[in-house]
Amino acid sequence: MEGALTARDRVGIQDFVLLDETTEAAFLSNLKKRFSKDLIYTYIGTLLVSVNPYKELDIYNMKQMDLYMGVNFFELPPHIYALADNAYHTMLTEFNNHFILISGESGAGKTEASKKILQYYAVSCPSTTLLNTVRDKMLMSNPVLEAFGNAKTLKNYNSSRFGKYMDIQFDSQGDAVGGHILNYMLEKSRVVHQNHGERNFHIFYQLVEGGEEDLLHQLGLERDCQQYNYLTQGECAIVSSINDRNDWKTVKNALQIINIDEINTNHLFGTVASVLHLGNVQFDSDSKGHALLNSNNSELRWVSNLLGVDAHRLQEGLTYRKIEAQKDQVLSPFTIDHAIYARDALAKAIYGQTFTWLVNRINESIENKDSSRKTVIGLLDIYGFEVFYVNSFEQFCINYCNEKLQQLFIQLTLKAEQEEYQAEDIEWEPVQFFNNKIICDLVEEKHRGIISILDEECLRPGDVTDLTFLERLEEKMGNHPHFVTHKLADKMTRKTLERGDFRLLHYAGEVTYCVVGFVDKNNDLLYKSIKDLICQSKNAIVRECFSTMDPDSRRRPETVVTQFKSSLLKLTEILMAKEAWYIRCLKSNESKQPGQFDEALIRHQVKYLGLMEHLRVRRAGFAYRRKYEVFLKRYKPLCPATWPHWRGVPADGVEVLVQHLGYLPHEYKMGRTKIFIRHPRTLFATEDAFEK
Ligand code: ATP
Ligand code: MG
Repeated sequence: MEGALTARDRVGIQDFVLLDETTEAAFLSNLKKRFSKDLIYTYIGTLLVSVNPYKELDIYNMKQMDLYMGVNFFELPPHIYALADNAYHTMLTEFNNHFILISGESGAGKTEASKKILQYYAVSCPSTTLLNTVRDKMLMSNPVLEAFGNAKTLKNYNSSRFGKYMDIQFDSQGDAVGGHILNYMLEKSRVVHQNHGERNFHIFYQLVEGGEEDLLHQLGLERDCQQYNYLTQGECAIVSSINDRNDWKTVKNALQIINIDEINTNHLFGTVASVLHLGNVQFDSDSKGHALLNSNNSELRWVSNLLGVDAHRLQEGLTYRKIEAQKDQVLSPFTIDHAIYARDALAKAIYGQTFTWLVNRINESIENKDSSRKTVIGLLDIYGFEVFYVNSFEQFCINYCNEKLQQLFIQLTLKAEQEEYQAEDIEWEPVQFFNNKIICDLVEEKHRGIISILDEECLRPGDVTDLTFLERLEEKMGNHPHFVTHKLADKMTRKTLERGDFRLLHYAGEVTYCVVGFVDKNNDLLYKSIKDLICQSKNAIVRECFSTMDPDSRRRPETVVTQFKSSLLKLTEILMAKEAWYIRCLKSNESKQPGQFDEALIRHQVKYLGLMEHLRVRRAGFAYRRKYEVFLKRYKPLCPATWPHWRGVPADGVEVLVQHLGYLPHEYKMGRTKIFIRHPRTLFATEDAFEK
């Protein structure tokens, strides 16, 4: 254990709670000292702070896993395995559900952290051959989902473009016996458009670069990413640090392990290829300005082949709109813009539905169906907060999601913690913190929030545009302290805003959103004739994907942002019912360089993630608390006066018990219904007493 001053000087403090002073400067200096020694993990109590090293460290191997198995949290240097192990053992002793919230901005290391945890559980839990198969499948779900759901962005070469919540299921012996994944809004717009320096989803490049000759031939693809419009907009199809060919092999192998058979695999790559061909379908305009298919029809034929739909009807669907006038159907020709819109909408729909299909397949393969009672540890790894030069609807949704997770963190730690001390009559000096509820409300409040206003515009008949949406926002948001537009801004701020922008002051900083595309992306409409057609697809995956879609339904589907909002609400409910563990990931520098500690960047993250406040609450507070009944039940064998039965009220029993165990007065406090223990070490000593 690290006690001597020399160790402190050498490697800094392992737990910020033990820091001499709780200033930001001391915090950063400790973080920096540790980072320079490749010590990327530090605790604040049981919360784990992780700084992205941007280099491979030799700390994730079997030897390390063995080391951390079943060892008390603070006995070894901070590690993600220690947190994973602590959650696991608490789950086993208390037989309850847990979740690990991994947060931080894009590129901070959330996905890597979640993979390390899954590996830890898959490798180090007790095992049988049968279980090994399930665990292999769980592990292999990662490369598959990353291939289809991650992409190179300017922030991160492997950026998650979907949210993922994975429950790992354990039986009563503590064996990891299965899992279940929930996925959240995939950034579908990336399929048809990428900003400069960014790529489409990895799988497209993997297929074109790594796909076997036969396969490419069957799919009508050439081994050249430059041939595909959907792959070249960012002008960086090939990136030296990404090995698409190797990744292709990993993904193919992973698909096999998760039991996706050859027929389905073929259909799957058929849909991926159909999207690439669709992107190459081009339109010309006739003398009246109507869209015509470009004379090169081969791309359209490939699309119809791969999707198993009639080529002529597909062409019609992409260039005409069917209008039902009484009993007749009239074909109204599209302009080029409409035709492109229809084409891109189809590509996004196919890809988005295929992704959901994949998640369902993975779930079928990893879910444990036996009905015995299980407990779970949930892992939440979602796209991190991001700010680009141009921010659109997708960033708005992603940043809103991060805002909600921050709110959950605040509620569960800062707010709940302090309220509990009050409720339990524990003497307490309140710690001030910034509550981002005001921003959550600004975005999601019923009838008044940005989401409601966007939906109202999307559903309003008549001339709705992105700019009318912006006008509505300006009318309703007026002088909200976290909202500004060009029109509402003072002179100075106005210089930094374009007319079509609105700016939100998020918990993590200002983001300026360009309203272009908000209405269309939120509506996410697929023209009816295309929907009709695609529902009859002969590609089994596509047909299955669209089978739940009723093309005749007159009811408008929920808008994208409203679906997202409800799914986040459900997620919050799932999480609130479990015991929480936190990993706060920090990005060390913007240029992805190993060993670089950008102090200003890290200071900013430490600030907005609320780490200082968390530290102050932790330091002044109590790491562990349990209801008297629960505490007594577990530890009463350790004291003759409480074993086997304590006849009085539980609180008195606990008092007798802890006196017997030699707890010092400053180590614990007795609340109204619970005992509060200042430091986990005290409790670990008590746990150890069981073994003596
Ligand atoms: P996003 O929100 O964009 O999905 P993220 O937080 O999930 O971002 P990661 O993809 O986990 O970020 O990490 C980005 C990159 O940083 C990784 O591809 C890897 O190169 C590096 N990295 C992250 N964590 C570690 C680690 N523990 N050890 C070594 N490298 C790491
Ligand atoms: Mg990620």
